[in-house]
Parts: sequence; structure tokens; C-alpha cells
Amino acid sequence: MENINPWKRAQMQLTKAATLLEIDPLLLSILCEPDRVIEISLPIRMDNGEIKNFKGFRVQHNNIRGPYKGGIRYHQQVDLSEVKALSLWMTMKNAVVDVPFGGGKGGIHVNPKELSEAELERLSREYTRKLKDEIGPHIDVPAPDVNTNAKIMNWIVDEYSKQMGKKTPAVVTGKTVDNGGSKGRTGSTGMGGVYVLKEVLKKLSKKPKGMTVAIQGFGNVGRHIARYLQREGFNIVAVSDSQGGLYIPEGIKDIEQIEKCKDEMGHVAGCYCIGSVCGISFKDHLKGKSITNKELLELDVDIIVPAALENVITKENAHNIEASIVLEMANGPTSQEADKILKDRGIVVVPDILANSGGVTVSYFEWYQNLHNQKWSEEKVAKKLKEKMKAATHAVFEISKKYNVTLTEAAFLLAVKRVAETWKKNTSKI
Ligand code: NAD
Repeated sequence: MENINPWKRAQMQLTKAATLLEIDPLLLSILCEPDRVIEISLPIRMDNGEIKNFKGFRVQHNNIRGPYKGGIRYHQQVDLSEVKALSLWMTMKNAVVDVPFGGGKGGIHVNPKELSEAELERLSREYTRKLKDEIGPHIDVPAPDVNTNAKIMNWIVDEYSKQMGKKTPAVVTGKTVDNGGSKGRTGSTGMGGVYVLKEVLKKLSKKPKGMTVAIQGFGNVGRHIARYLQREGFNIVAVSDSQGGLYIPEGIKDIEQIEKCKDEMGHVAGCYCIGSVCGISFKDHLKGKSITNKELLELDVDIIVPAALENVITKENAHNIEASIVLEMANGPTSQEADKILKDRGIVVVPDILANSGGVTVSYFEWYQNLHNQKWSEEKVAKKLKEKMKAATHAVFEISKKYNVTLTEAAFLLAVKRVAETWKKNTSKI
């Protein structure tokens, strides 16, 4: 069996890049472990009066380049290994896209779908209270991730502000716009992914128009990238969520209809199976069918976009991937062994720490606006995001050429190089 422990994998990626760059072994030893691991108990009163305890985490991987930064995930699979890996990838991602942050990540081991909104709010506020001395605009700045959203970020700002005795919107990013959020943040990860993909296609001399795309995951990231890719002329033929997917070989004409149907039905597969029942006409789509998440990744399409969880492409299915491009919008969707197989098969993997860095880029814009009391227009955010994504993609390609390595390896090399440069500057002052 392949070892798909995400933390081991993140450490191996780091070590490989550090060895190739011949960075100081002292820095490698620092980066190989998080600066701080925080594990907390979160007892909350449930609606039925009972008290239940949940397990929470915050991992602060490294702050050489700036305050720790990274999302908070609510999921029943959250564990320390996953949060540590995600925090290391955040250090790398923030360096690839060149924003002045280090890396952090948080999570709560919970199935949020089993909690009422009031219970979720109590849990989020308890998490904030327990971490009040560990987070802050210049210390550690969380954001949304799987199963967390702007409403939860608003609760965190409110609780943190109460604890500190002053309104502090810059403690998290990804808030609603009326509460200090940035315009364009919600769709920014998807939008950033489109900018990166278009640059990659340009470098590969391929034209986006009509390219077929299958997207796994239809949450914040999946639904936005689906919408934006379609606008750019890509043909979205399959989408899925945790309950299954739908495949329409001629192309899904109206992504927004699927979004509306998912919002009403709660899952994507049902939108196709019982589309007529939920009152939406799917006449155009009758040539489609329901598929599993496994089948989606193996479809005969040009591009697959994993946009859900880790380790969905492993050595078990890497040989069956038909697409020529994997756009990693989820964090860590491809295992180490699978990476090797895809490389040997000539499949281009656009790595997570580049492909999904649009989210943290606009998070940086949000944090900056909060600290400088500014409000940027959506156009300004989009323009600056595009510049950042183009620059990062270009830099990753340059390294990939220089060292003759894959884009995944090149992104790590770029990140470690930038962290090492800052570390050298800082330590020379000591
Ligand atoms: P989300 O909670 O909004 O959506 C997750 C989606 O994945 C849902 O549609 C869910 O049904 C689906 N899903 C869950 N388990 C699945 C499974 N086993 N198979 C298929 N689909 C499944 O989360 P999100 O914010 O869209 O995050 C998705 C991924 O993108 C994560 O890896 C996250 O770390 C990464 N990411 C998110 C952001 C952001 O700004 N939200 C930024 C960078 C990276």
C-alpha cells in the first residue's frame, strides 16, 4: 500500500527541494517541523442541552516571510497530520505567489452537517476564544477552507473583537464585504486558477476554446472555477460533490442552474437524476448520466480539476487518468507515487501551491485593505490578482526549465528559494 500520509509527503517535497537547492541544513531542520502545534478541546452545549467536546487544531508552520496564514477546515477527517501538511503547503504557497505571509492551518474534527447553525456558531466562538492569544492581524490570520465560509469568519471577527475589546477585522480574511471582506474574495481561488491555467496553456501552445473539463468538488472553489472556465470558452462536461457526479459529454450548458439546483437539493448528482423533480428543466442535458467521483477523474477529457480533498489521485488510479492536464485546485490531491506516474506518462500537473493560490492572494489584499482602511473595487482586485497569478506561473515555468523538473517540483524549489533568501537576510541581522 502506498503511504499517503500528507505530512510525510509534505516533508519529502520540502526535503527534495532543499537538497537540490543546497540550502543550509539548519533552515531545512527548521522548516521540517512546524514552529508551533496547538491542540485544543472545544466543549460546547448542543441544542438538546447536552455538552459535547470537539477536537481543534491550529498549526503555525513558519513565519519567516510574515504572519502565519491559512484556512480553518471543519471536517470529520481532520487530524493533526493533515493540518500539519496543509500548514507547510501554506508556507510554500505564500512564497510562490510572493505575499508577505508565512504558513498556518487550522481545523476542527467535526461533521459540520450534523450541527445546527447555532451549534456551529458556539463551536466557532469557542475555537476563537481558545486561540485568542495565538491569532491576530500580525501573528496568525486564518481564513475559510473546506466547510467554512464568510459567515463563520464573521463570527470569529466578532468573538475575537469582544475578547480584545476592539473591532479587529484583520484577524481573519474571507469575511463578508459588509464586515470588512474584500470584493472578489469568494470567487478568488477559482478566478486565480483560471488565470494560472490560461498562462499554462499559453506556455504549452494550446488554445482553451472547447477544451473539455471535469471538476471534482462543487463547493466554493469548484463552483466558481466551473463558472469562470465556462465563461472563457472551456467546455465543462462533468462536475461532482461528495455524493457523486454528473457527466454530460456534450457539455453542461448552464453551470448556474446546477448551482441553483445543488443549493436546493443539497447535492450535484441529484440535480441530474431528479432535475425535473426539483423543477429545473434539464432537457438539454438528457444525454448525460450520473457518475462516481472515481469515474469522473478517469473521464476522457482534456483537463481534470480536483477541487475537493487530498489524495484522490494515487498509484491506484494514476494509470487510468486520460486527461493531459491536472489542475490541482484542492490542496494535496495527488499522492507522491501518482505524481511520478503522471510525470512518466507526460501528463502536466499544475500544482496546488500555484493553481489555488488566488485565494490567499486576495486574502492578502483583504488584510492589506483592513490594515490601511481602504476599500478596493472588484476591478482593481481582479487586475492585481491576474498580475500576481501570471508572475507566479511565469516564475514556476522558468525554474522548471532551469532545473529540468516538473511544475510541482519547480513550485517547491521557487518557494524554498524565496524562504531561504528571507531567512538569510533576517539571520544576518542577528
Ligand atoms: P467547500 O467546503 O466549499 O467544498 C468542498 C466540496 O468538495 C463540496 O462540494 C463537497 O461536497 C466536495 N467533497 C467533499 N468530499 C468529497 C469527496 N470525497 N469526493 C468528491 N467531492 C467531495 O471547500 P472549498 O473551500 O471549495 O475547498 C476545496 C479544496 O480547495 C480544499 O482542498 C481546500 O483546501 C482548497 N482550497 C480552498 C480555498 C478557498 O479559498 N476556499 C483556497 C485554496 C485551496
